[in-house]
Amino acid sequence: MSQTPSILKLSEIVSLCKRRGFLFQSSEIYGGLASTWDYGPLGVELKNNVKNAWWKTMVWGRDDVVGIDSSILMHPEVWKASGHVDGFTDPLVECTDCKRRYREDHISSTNTEDTNSPDTPLVCPQCSGSLTEPRMFNLMFKTTIGPVEDTASEAFLRPETAQGIFVNFNNIITTTRRKLPFGIAQTGKAFRNEITTGNFIFRTREFEIMEIEFFVDPKDADKWHKSWIADSQKWYTNLGVNPQKLRLRDHEPNELAHYSTGTCDIEYLYPWGWGEISGIANRTDFDLRAHTDSSGESLSYFDDKTGKHIMPYVIEPTFGTDRAVMTFLVDAYSEEEILSGSGKKESRVVLKIHPSLAPVKIAVLPLSRNENLVPLAKEVHETVRKSENITGMIQYDDAQSIGKRYRRQDEVGTPLCVTVDFDSLDDKSVTIRERDSMSQIRVPIANLTKELRNKLE
Ligand SMILES: [Zn+2]
Repeated sequence: MSQTPSILKLSEIVSLCKRRGFLFQSSEIYGGLASTWDYGPLGVELKNNVKNAWWKTMVWGRDDVVGIDSSILMHPEVWKASGHVDGFTDPLVECTDCKRRYREDHISSTNTEDTNSPDTPLVCPQCSGSLTEPRMFNLMFKTTIGPVEDTASEAFLRPETAQGIFVNFNNIITTTRRKLPFGIAQTGKAFRNEITTGNFIFRTREFEIMEIEFFVDPKDADKWHKSWIADSQKWYTNLGVNPQKLRLRDHEPNELAHYSTGTCDIEYLYPWGWGEISGIANRTDFDLRAHTDSSGESLSYFDDKTGKHIMPYVIEPTFGTDRAVMTFLVDAYSEEEILSGSGKKESRVVLKIHPSLAPVKIAVLPLSRNENLVPLAKEVHETVRKSENITGMIQYDDAQSIGKRYRRQDEVGTPLCVTVDFDSLDDKSVTIRERDSMSQIRVPIANLTKELRNKLE
């Protein structure tokens, strides 16, 4: 078995995702809606597994984080106080010829070096037409609440989940009696009306994030910032992401969000280059202070050791859920040359994804559709599916040759296949085949679910 040295193209991932039901273009029968994607049967399993793995590590795995699920629609004052109404903008430029619109800071990096000097004006990357002066474009999606469309009913789709946490700060303190340092975690959708989108599910206008607001004594903020950078990186590598393809990058002062004094990104080396998959920001006391001033309700913390009220600082590790999905897919994708049963060289695509993330945990495969085999294979499938030893999707597949079915399961990252053959009828045993090594062992059906559970752990 040898790894073929090939450079993975984004199009190969996109094609696998569509072919096998991970992701579809949204509203495809109407020609699609730009940069919106629907998770198919395998995609939703993968995405749920990613979110569960995150929650397990970040909430259940620690004793200093609790969860919340706040609503997408919030009081409009929230977004004024948070600075998003005034400050959540990107510089928009328009081509005077073809009318295409760009984020000015995105084209400066894509234009060639000689046109990038301060004296040379930027031109349209498509038609080289001249560009308008930049104007600041707010990224929040506006909507109205109720039947009357006026400014009083105006609301926004949340551009981040953090504010739902800040406005509940007192509720959480009162109901959980937490002491600093502690965090509040949330996963959910956010919406940003990005000027430019692209690279599949990497940059979309509707996306999901997983994030924690971690409240600390201001004097401990730097220490916790560093510790969350390390913990965030570890989350990816513990789930199998190649550490060589991860790097840390501190934001330059001019890239910092309006609330942040320091942000460190974790970047992954995608087929098109480095891209941000997590950001760990020090948001200081910006938000708690702003909401205290704006709402009139104090969001401070009473330290009963010193008898003083303090305004905690916030360390915010954010993970893009869709970006995490894409990272796990890209990182796990591999092509190998193997020898087939008849000794011929053939290639296989295999998704070497961590078992806890794999969309299908186990596939049960009868050697053929022989009428004596099928009832036993179906019985085995039901036993595994209903077993309390195993959580996750268990598939039954009897279409086409056994070799083709192994390839299909390899391609979607199924860690284990259970094959029911003619010997099974007599010896009441089946074969477990492992995805990565392709090694096979024979196991009595009576011990099967225990064996499978051990192998998945
Ligand atoms: Zn143009």
